[in-house]
Amino acid sequence: MPELSLIGYWRAEGDTSSPYPDPRDWIDPDWDEVERDRTWFYFVSGTLFRAFMGYSPCRICGENNGAVEYTDGTYVWREGLAHYVYDHAVRLPDVVVSHARRRLRDVEGLDPDTDWWVEATAKK
Ligand SMILES: [Zn+2]
Repeated sequence: MPELSLIGYWRAEGDTSSPYPDPRDWIDPDWDEVERDRTWFYFVSGTLFRAFMGYSPCRICGENNGAVEYTDGTYVWREGLAHYVYDHAVRLPDVVVSHARRRLRDVEGLDPDTDWWVEATAKK
């Protein structure tokens, strides 16, 4: 896998010149609701990667899907990716869903250390 993989780019309906998939082909209304919610939760934000001048419309409903991309150091995705997952049940490839599940599991149940911040900001 390259250092950063672009995901969640879709072609408009009928656009045969785009190399990207049609999101309608990835809609899965039977997708497990918990897994779908967790996938949405993971991709709804990230570290800001790039911002564009123009907004990207949803390829399914036309809704404004934002103008920035996020990254987590592995994937880069348009901010509208979460909209496809949540509002249209566009199911991402298993490898992407597993990645999100693993990343969320890594931080679940961790108890943040509050003392560190207090010590780091204490005036000497
Ligand atoms: Zn939409």
